[in-house]
Formats: sequence, C-alpha cells, structure tokens
Amino acid sequence: MIIGKSRKEIEKMRAAGRLAGEVREALRAMVRPGVTTLDLDAAAERMIRGAGALPTFKGYHGFPFSICASANEQIVHGFPSKYELKDGDIISIDVGATLHGFVGDTATTVPVGNVSEDRLELIRVAEECLERAIQVCHPGRRLGDIGWAVQELAESRGYSIVREYVGHGIGRKMHEDPQIPNYGKPGTGLKLKAGYVFAIEPMLNMGTHLTKTLADGWTVVTLDGRPSAHVEHTVAITEEGPEVLTRVAGERAAVRVEAAVLSEV
Ligand code: MG
Repeated sequence: MIIGKSRKEIEKMRAAGRLAGEVREALRAMVRPGVTTLDLDAAAERMIRGAGALPTFKGYHGFPFSICASANEQIVHGFPSKYELKDGDIISIDVGATLHGFVGDTATTVPVGNVSEDRLELIRVAEECLERAIQVCHPGRRLGDIGWAVQELAESRGYSIVREYVGHGIGRKMHEDPQIPNYGKPGTGLKLKAGYVFAIEPMLNMGTHLTKTLADGWTVVTLDGRPSAHVEHTVAITEEGPEVLTRVAGERAAVRVEAAVLSEV
C-alpha cells in the first residue's frame, strides 16, 4: 500500500531531508586519503543526534552503523571500518535521518584524491541518471518511466544496472511501497500522484550487473570486482512536479566540481 503524504507531512519530510542532505555534504567535504569510513560514520552520528534526530540505519534490521560506506566494488550497505580511504578510491556514502517521525534518505559517490577518468565518468553518469529520474516525477507519469530514465542512459553509456536492490517509497518508515527499480518500460506501471514521496537510488556497475553479499551479511559487492556508483535523493511528487527534499543549498555534484576546477587550469 502506498502512503500518500499531505502538505503538512511533506513539510516535515522537508526538514528530515534537509538534515540528511546537510550531513551528506559535510561527509563529502571530509573525504580525503587517510580518512577512515568509521571517521565518517562517527561524524554523521554526531551531526544527526546533534540536530535532535536519529540515525535511521542504526539498528535497522540489526545494521550496526549510522551510515553505509561502500568503496569501489562495494555497491551498497558497506560497513564503516578502519579502512583508510586512499587516492583513486570512490566511496558511496548513504545517510538516513529520522526527524519529527519522518525519514530522509540520500547517498552520493565521492572520488578520493586523484581518480581515474573511467571511474569519474561512472559517477557522472550515475548522477545524470538520478537527475533524469527526478525530472520524471510529475503526477500522471508512470513508475516504469523512472526506471527507464535510469536504464536507458546508463546502458547507452555501457554501464549495467543492479537488479536486486532498488529505490523505495519513504515516509514515517524508511522503506515503504512501492519498490522503485532502476530499470523499466516507459508508460507502464503505477501512475504517479501528488503526495507520493520516493527515495530514488540508481546503482550503476562498470562491469556485470550481478552481485554478491559478503560474509558480514550486509555488504553488497559486484560479482566481477569492478567499481560501482550509487547516488540517491528523497523526492516528493507535487502538483508542480518534483521537489528534491534532500537537496541542500550549495550542493554540487561530486564530479562536476572537479571538472570545473580542471577547466580553470
Ligand atoms: Mg534508500
């Protein structure tokens, strides 16, 4: 059952989303060689609790941390650890915050130091897929249009789409109906309505779409060990179109910032 949200509820979700987005951006700014993913986790928990909110992931079905930190071939649900980020890594950071009873959920993939052009391109396309999917979020469009927006671009650039993990409705609970696959047929599936709020989260692999889960029971990696990128926003569908609840002022796409800096040289 899909739970539509009132304007008042979306107002609350705006606050949860903004907090999650601010934490995501603060963690992005911390990423550099030598930082551990446990450092990022500790900072996230401090910021979320400091804002009077709860880290949604902590304790969710037993997940032991406040963020997911998934490096390189890890796709999603990676455990923060003593692993020190190193030059050339890409790191997916996924943040959930529960504020006033509602959840904001967002992720980004950040390059660490000097990253190869093929990895930067993977992230760039993942971000573009997310933006395309967001632009679909108007009343009257279909769920299949969202999946197609992601799949069509990703596959045309030679990337594969993870099948086993998908986006989701979101509200008082992190995972509500419907599931939102990153693949689909245009013009098919559920009709989108104002008041629906979705966490849209493309996961793009450089190689095979196949995955496996590590012995910790959580960390999902690509079967062929090639890199993966994951980006996510919480998006409210309104009469006027999409409102990205986890977008914050000053936010800039991870890779385009680097590109802009380079072009000035
Ligand atoms: Mg999510």
